[in-house]
Amino acid sequence: MSEVINPLANPKGANKLCELCEKPAYIQCTKCFVTFYCDREHQNDDWVAIHKKVCQLLIPVRTPAPYYTLEAEREHHAAQIVQRQKQLMEISQTVAEKKLFEKSYKESLPAALLSLRSAMDAYGTSCVQLVPAYLLLAEANIGLGNLSPAEQYLSWAEWTVLRTTNCSQTVHHKLHRCMGRLLIVKGNLEEALFHLSNDIYYASEEYGQDSIVTCGGYFLMADIFFKQGKMDIVRSLYTEVAKTWHSHLSKLLEKQIKDTLTPEETFDEAQQAEADQMLRSMLNVPEECSTERADQPAVVAHSLAMLWLLGNDPKKALEFGKRALLSSQLVPDCSLTEPIQRLVQLAGEDLKAASESWPNLSPCSSAHSQHQHSIQFSQG
Ligand SMILES: [Zn+2]
Ligand SMILES: [Zn+2]
Repeated sequence: MSEVINPLANPKGANKLCELCEKPAYIQCTKCFVTFYCDREHQNDDWVAIHKKVCQLLIPVRTPAPYYTLEAEREHHAAQIVQRQKQLMEISQTVAEKKLFEKSYKESLPAALLSLRSAMDAYGTSCVQLVPAYLLLAEANIGLGNLSPAEQYLSWAEWTVLRTTNCSQTVHHKLHRCMGRLLIVKGNLEEALFHLSNDIYYASEEYGQDSIVTCGGYFLMADIFFKQGKMDIVRSLYTEVAKTWHSHLSKLLEKQIKDTLTPEETFDEAQQAEADQMLRSMLNVPEECSTERADQPAVVAHSLAMLWLLGNDPKKALEFGKRALLSSQLVPDCSLTEPIQRLVQLAGEDLKAASESWPNLSPCSSAHSQHQHSIQFSQG
């Protein structure tokens, strides 16, 4: 899985090819019958990483269209298929992002690949909508230490952006952030800083300077300054990042309590994983870059508690809430103590409600969902 896979070079056609490595396939998924693998290992990797989520969704997009006599019917069918391909692209993109934030790089690859294939099916092979998928594949490879495929995917992304007029700020921000990540790993810190400044510029143009999207760039910059031993800058960047997340999560939680949270405002799995990863690493920073504000540890732990209360995990929310309360009580007249106490109470109530309703749940067998469904088939 470390080599670059370019679905363009190896289009899926008459010969069945492995979903993951595009070598000749000998195994078929028996739940959808439209997905093929070279061996059980690749089938298992794909199932765990993404296929179990999209198995049934792949059936209509990979099954030949029925014969329609009317042109209107044909057009309607084609439009429906494109809609489903876009849906597949979005699902697999979110899954890949989540795995990347969790640092499960190998597991993110199958989802990132599916997102590239779905984008190509929906939009064509040289469209700007392919860029997010190229960047996911680049990031997964950076995480795995496979820098040469990462550079290849990044150069496709860059090439696509260059030949697209009116490319959105979001695409520019994502491209520069990914380049920054690659250059950090390569140890080219000055050039990485240049790309991250661009990332922050484009992200703040699109989302605002104090948005959670923009602060992801500040967080990466802090990593560079940490490597350069510039602790005063690290401290102020961490303070900024913590403040941004704290105020964002406070607003979301307030809305959730008032029941005015709209679906667009709720977290997706990827954002949740990103916030968790960032906040946890700030909670565990070395002493020398932690204390610009005395209430910083309380701000970070409170943010994590809010994150998990919003994410329906009252146990984790309570754990971080208690930690936040301890930290806030070390700070004289800390304004956070009261909201943290309220949160601990809410999390406690949620946990109690969950444990009371638990015995009523029907037992479910998780062994079932992991079961392999495959048949061997002969080619040709
Ligand atoms: Zn394979
Ligand atoms: Zn399947």
